[in-house]
Amino acid sequence: MADRNRSRRRKKKSAKKLGVILLLELLLLIIIAGSYYIISKNKKDDNNNTGKIVDNTQDNKDNKDKTDKKDNDDKEEEELTPAEQEALKEQEKLLQEITEREDLIKEANMLKLSYDYDKAIDKIKTYKGIEGGYELYPALLTAINDLQSEKDSLVLYGGSYSSVMQFNHIFFHSLVADNSKAFDGDYDAKGYNMYMTTTYEFEKMMQSMYEDGYVLVSVHDLAKQITDENGKTKFVAGEIYLPAGKKPFVLSQDDVNYYDYMDGDGFASRIVIGEDGKPTCEMILDDGSLVRGAFDIVPILDAFVEEHPDFSYRGAKGILALTGYEGSLGYRTDDPTSPTYEQDKETVKEVARVLKEGGWEFASHSYNHRDMREKSFDFIKKDTIRWQEEVGSLVGDTDILIFPYGTDIESTMGHYSSDKYAFLKEAGFNYYHGVDSKPWMHLKDDYVRMTRRPLDGQAMLEFPERLQDLFNLEEIIDPERPSKDW
Ligand SMILES: [Zn+2]
Repeated sequence: MADRNRSRRRKKKSAKKLGVILLLELLLLIIIAGSYYIISKNKKDDNNNTGKIVDNTQDNKDNKDKTDKKDNDDKEEEELTPAEQEALKEQEKLLQEITEREDLIKEANMLKLSYDYDKAIDKIKTYKGIEGGYELYPALLTAINDLQSEKDSLVLYGGSYSSVMQFNHIFFHSLVADNSKAFDGDYDAKGYNMYMTTTYEFEKMMQSMYEDGYVLVSVHDLAKQITDENGKTKFVAGEIYLPAGKKPFVLSQDDVNYYDYMDGDGFASRIVIGEDGKPTCEMILDDGSLVRGAFDIVPILDAFVEEHPDFSYRGAKGILALTGYEGSLGYRTDDPTSPTYEQDKETVKEVARVLKEGGWEFASHSYNHRDMREKSFDFIKKDTIRWQEEVGSLVGDTDILIFPYGTDIESTMGHYSSDKYAFLKEAGFNYYHGVDSKPWMHLKDDYVRMTRRPLDGQAMLEFPERLQDLFNLEEIIDPERPSKDW
């Protein structure tokens, strides 16, 4: 009985306690709500009264928050006097300008990543704000100073070479994307093993070169045509400044035509523009269906440079060398009877435009892919004109010629002197590229002649010593590649 009374008393007591707690909580809520009202009112007042905005990120963030809040308070805004509204507008403009300046610095830093310090600095210097030019904005001045001091620390050719003559120019053919199809022991398999590189190997090579400090450059930056004081044009070595330890190099890819004989052998079939607006490859599967993916150099290198912008000097990628006898880039634009002839030509133009925008350049690899030393002057003249009419008209004019089979028009090591050269120069070609086991380069007043190093199966399996300076081949060679079988 006494126990029951005690428990009743306890219950009464705890009910009382609960009431007090509830009351306290209510009070607390009122206090919080009240202070929120006061704070938000103060904030709003701040918003209207801030005269000058300091140009720095922290303030900008705070102000942005305020702007967001203000948007939610449209009703209260209506009660503002015209002067207050004017001040608000002015402030919005200032905030927008701060964002603009931040974006500008971000853009400049992107250019800096690919070593284009001049363009980065120029970009900032073009800024015009309400108060005036870039000189009036501390954030912009600091950004320019930072860029300038970084630029001042660069060295010619990264200090790795004393002359552009020492640069590497490496080249590839279409990459093998499906080893099981390329190396299936059929008629073409041996040729693929000799002259092709697999996507696996290409990716390993690029990673290795990147880690070694190699940086892609354009031949047009390696040697530039200038006009001297007498009004005469001539080629001179480009002044490529890079951080110490970087090594400029040129990359090219031959026969980016996706020839018919490669169908079904595990190669891409053409270059297309993907839904994201970026170039990619298409491949035809056994059942005739199409798949898209990074089956060749263009999309692989594009993705690599996107991830490592410092692998490319001013956005340079590589040179794509095209013949004409089976169209271009995988489109049979050589055949006017093709039902898709007109459409294919338009597509190639568009793909080429996107590729060039992304840092790729085009070269003539001749129309018929014949030995240009052996063939007559007349043959070369007709062949060149046909290339320009059928391929150059789609991908654009080019002054780069990549010799079929790597065979130069002349065997002379002196100045070109043949009528073939005179014609080719007249036709607009300035950069001539052959192949040699020991690379060399000539920089003449009227042209540049530069040999290239193949990074194919033959180089890796038959002449590995030639690639020793570039790679540890054990890490590069695709484990699925057959051993030397020629
Ligand atoms: Zn070729």
